[in-house]
Amino acid sequence: MASTQHPYTLESDGFVLARLDDAVRAAQGNSLWYLTFGLACCAVEMIHAAAARYDMERFSMIPRASPRQADLMFVSGTVTNKMAPALRKVYDQMSEPRYVISMGSCANGGGYYHYGYSVVRGVDRIVPVDIYVPGCPPTAEALIYGILQLQRRIQEGHRGGLLAR
Ligand code: SF4
Repeated sequence: MASTQHPYTLESDGFVLARLDDAVRAAQGNSLWYLTFGLACCAVEMIHAAAARYDMERFSMIPRASPRQADLMFVSGTVTNKMAPALRKVYDQMSEPRYVISMGSCANGGGYYHYGYSVVRGVDRIVPVDIYVPGCPPTAEALIYGILQLQRRIQEGHRGGLLAR
């Protein structure tokens, strides 16, 4: 059925019109390749989200073992002061635009270890964070909801990390 809003439709005319910016954002938002970067128990829920039941690849989320091929980092677990420089180094090796999802209480703000001597009180002290997923641990469903929010933000024009500032 022909649309009343647009003069041309895929059904009747065989093509659609779109702005290049919208097409690029849609491609970026729907082709997030994420770094396999588990730090603690939250990583098990990240793995759960990637495994058969929830299957993140349905959302074009593909795990990569190299930061140079990844544009999304899940910080899934406790970030210690000892790990922080390595985390930042891996982030710097990712190509832009790049995005970070902070997963769980530990990454969000230190969690149970907030007053510990060895734990970073929030990964936003190390890298810019685009989406926070609450919980200890967050469920796989919560992580997927966070991913969908990030995809929506990218399609609305959000550019991750340092580019957003
Ligand atoms: S937020 Fe909870 S589940 Fe996640 S790493 Fe910290 S202690 Fe583990």
